[in-house]
Amino acid sequence: MLFTAPFIKLSLINFSLSLSLSHFLNTQEARQRGDSSSSSLIFKTSMAGTGIFTDILDGDVYKYYSDGEWKTSSSGKSVAIINPATRKTQYKVQACTQEEVNKVMEMAKSAQKSWAKTPLWKRAELLHKAAAILKDNKAPIAESLVKEIAKPAKDSVTEVVRSGDLISYCAEEGVRILGEGKFLLSDSFPGNERTKYCLTSKIPLGVVLAIPPFNYPVNLAVSKIAPALIAGNSLVLKPPTQGAVSCLHMVHCFHLAGFPKGLISCITGKGSEIGDFLTMHPAVNCISFTGGDTGISISKKAGMIPLQMELGGKDACIVLEDADLDLVASNIIKGGFSYSGQRCTAVKVVLVIKSVADELVEKVKAKVAKLTVGPPEENCDITAVVSESSANFIEGLVMDAKDKGATFCQEYKREGNLIWPLLLDNVRPDMRIAWEEPFGPVLPVLRINSVEEGINHCNASNFGLQGCVFTKDINKAILISDAMETGTVQINSAPARGPDHFPFQGLKDSGIGSQGVTNSINLMTKVKTTVINLPTPSYSMG
Ligand code: NAP
Repeated sequence: MLFTAPFIKLSLINFSLSLSLSHFLNTQEARQRGDSSSSSLIFKTSMAGTGIFTDILDGDVYKYYSDGEWKTSSSGKSVAIINPATRKTQYKVQACTQEEVNKVMEMAKSAQKSWAKTPLWKRAELLHKAAAILKDNKAPIAESLVKEIAKPAKDSVTEVVRSGDLISYCAEEGVRILGEGKFLLSDSFPGNERTKYCLTSKIPLGVVLAIPPFNYPVNLAVSKIAPALIAGNSLVLKPPTQGAVSCLHMVHCFHLAGFPKGLISCITGKGSEIGDFLTMHPAVNCISFTGGDTGISISKKAGMIPLQMELGGKDACIVLEDADLDLVASNIIKGGFSYSGQRCTAVKVVLVIKSVADELVEKVKAKVAKLTVGPPEENCDITAVVSESSANFIEGLVMDAKDKGATFCQEYKREGNLIWPLLLDNVRPDMRIAWEEPFGPVLPVLRINSVEEGINHCNASNFGLQGCVFTKDINKAILISDAMETGTVQINSAPARGPDHFPFQGLKDSGIGSQGVTNSINLMTKVKTTVINLPTPSYSMG
């Protein structure tokens, strides 16, 4: 029987979305298998909150995850998740209490002790299992992403698959790097004989608190969960409110993989209400946070614990006279307008040498005209931004630029949270948009007289996440990269966080620490040393 009772209860809108997503997935799978008849696969995957995910739902409110079980909060309160496209309540999640946080922390502390004694290969095995379950259930998770954060359906599927790959990669990398330690000899330091053998290994920190942002809720959650777990830590997840339901589905995949009770927990509720209690909780031994300025205030309040902060950016794209302008234009479109500009590494300001500015702006304009605008279910390039307050903020930046005389390459258009893509030319440094992160489909172009002017603009920003430079002269590119005060510089491509094993870090207000699989594992461990002291020097003879 293909149709279950909860399936029939769901609305026609949900049905058609799931059908189109399933159809998309099944067609993809069929193509990969060389199978032209994909109809048999259409209902293979269930919808959000159904099938294997029914346990995570209580009526119309999603449960939170604690002690290996799905629970309803004693608060009796829920938090509404508004669909950015329809602006109606799409889902509800539990508003967890401080007592529930305390309980989760207590269990996380105790579960971590036995997890740290679980052989590394077994930890890796469980992670591989979770990755497989996650990828098998990409449809319902992607469906939640579409509804909660208006991410285009195709990109939502990509996010889930990428997350499964990240978990597997992390398991493999963990087995390699955590299986190795160092052996040091004392006589290399002046004044010492060879009387001390130092053995080092990496040990877990304890309880890791993971707080991802709305724009990649699943991917940026697993980029914290997987390194924490492989390294022998326990994990408490506080998902973003927009994105919480996708995260709860993802956590259920870890549950189904069979991780020990209490090792992973997921506390839901508004960050503004339970955030401080979580981040200042004495049981937390490490915070891995991705988001906006909230991260700066967390880092001021958190105690003496390692912090991994991946915050905002104002990624500059510096374009030289000799650049391949077609390549630049496609990268500006991809970098500036993918997921409607709601990416930390989106191109957020174009700094182009005056002599080629007219030509570049024309090329970008032509490509902007081809961007599709509309529902995420239809894979439109530009979809509604995450919230009304976000749309209002973007509009504020646009109006400031208008008042101060920026050139509008398109007419400014907004319906609800949907903002049409907009290129603003002749932006000057006195305009807010030259410095602030719109997190929307609005891109400023500043015309510069020299490369130095571009570098100075980039370095005058409070942010320092990524940047990019377009030129055919690799020697110039390297000099510019070295001069840009950002965590990464891309040469001849738009900024990007992936591939997920590359180091990824921000300077200044863009963050503390470094991400990327290896760096995250290292950040979530401490070095432990054991020194063997010999009564007399001993030199190994050749
Ligand atoms: P945000 O408003 O800072 O929220 C991020 C997370 O913090 C959410 O889970 C939020 O929960 C939670 N939170 C809110 N107040 C909190 C508090 N007092 N204590 C603890 N947690 C709290 O950011 P966002 O709007 O979701 O994401 C957009 C920002 O993230 C942009 O600035 C973007 O550049 C940045 N970002 C950076 C990277 C990177 O790797 N550098 C990657 C992606 C995004 P609620 O949702 O419940 O409020």
